Amino acid sequence: MSEDYYKVLGVDKTASQDEIRAKFRELAKKYHPDVNAGSKEAEQKFKEIAEAYEVLSDPKKRQQYDATGSTTFGDAGGAGGSSFNWENFSHFDDINDIFNTIFGGGFGRSNSGGFYGGYNTQPDLDIYIKVNVTLEDAYYGASKPIKFRRNAMCEACNGSGAEGGVLITCPTCHGTGQERISRGQGFFNFVQVVVCRTCNGRGKIPKTPCRTCAGKGYVPKIENISINVPKGVDTNTRLRTQKLGNSLGGVTGDLYAVVYIQPNPNIKRTGDNLYLKEAIDFPTAALGGTIEIPLFREKFTLNIPPGSQPDDVLRIKGAGMPRLTSRGSGDLLVVLKLQVPKHLTSREKELIEDLKSEPVKKSWFHI
Ligand SMILES: [Zn+2]
Ligand SMILES: [Zn+2]
Repeated sequence: MSEDYYKVLGVDKTASQDEIRAKFRELAKKYHPDVNAGSKEAEQKFKEIAEAYEVLSDPKKRQQYDATGSTTFGDAGGAGGSSFNWENFSHFDDINDIFNTIFGGGFGRSNSGGFYGGYNTQPDLDIYIKVNVTLEDAYYGASKPIKFRRNAMCEACNGSGAEGGVLITCPTCHGTGQERISRGQGFFNFVQVVVCRTCNGRGKIPKTPCRTCAGKGYVPKIENISINVPKGVDTNTRLRTQKLGNSLGGVTGDLYAVVYIQPNPNIKRTGDNLYLKEAIDFPTAALGGTIEIPLFREKFTLNIPPGSQPDDVLRIKGAGMPRLTSRGSGDLLVVLKLQVPKHLTSREKELIEDLKSEPVKKSWFHI
């Protein structure tokens, strides 16, 4: 679970953009991996700070975060920005800025591909799992159990793949992480530079492979967890749980539960609005009245105006789907259907016969 971004940056919920920026710069200087060489803790802390800043410095994302809590970034609001990714980190310039000041040099993106230089949560390590959610679950929020398999970081070697964590320089690439391969023939011969296949670009290999994971750095694991599905989710809303993706080279990706809303035979959804059909009888349509509309565990009262027609749409404000990214709810729209009785008592027949023989009934069609 992700931490409270405000706590991570040590600012108030009401902090201004300037305060957030100043605090981020202060913390980024303190925890940058270049200043804390080899400290996994500092690296983790730095990632958290960067992630918190990424969200809180963007007014749109911040608003979404305030509304939905720490781990949920849906696509519904169009604000996007669900997974933190170093390459997409829009405030990269801020960091470069800081490190030009401190070290007089650039903080190159190119060094992020390596094993230890990898500060990014690698997108290819993320796991996506479809979660079936009913419309009722989306209306109230729900907890959904999911089971999945992932490559978890090997705890015996801390993901390094090396027995006792001892690594040596890769003999193939001599630590560069790159390999030069001769391709083609004769005149068309050329050299291609590829990621070193011996060390996968890490530049280092285990001296002795870890006995627990056979040098892979990860072990297969079945996870049985519950996903907290907040109110208002829609199909394709992605719910993130950090550090439950696959692990490779000591870096672990995130888990994304991707919501799929199962169709409901009686209730349609359009954005935050819900539609349902409700049958009324002729007297109520003609004279008006009050009916009860059941919706999941709720009951709403609906006033039917006199002279209501079949397929008229009446609105119950605020009774629709709760909004995922802002306050309030959509509306419930009730489509009126006219119910014509199939079986009548003799008394009912009489009354309707009377109505039929009433001479003024022709005026009904001139409303
Ligand atoms: Zn291991
Ligand atoms: Zn290598």
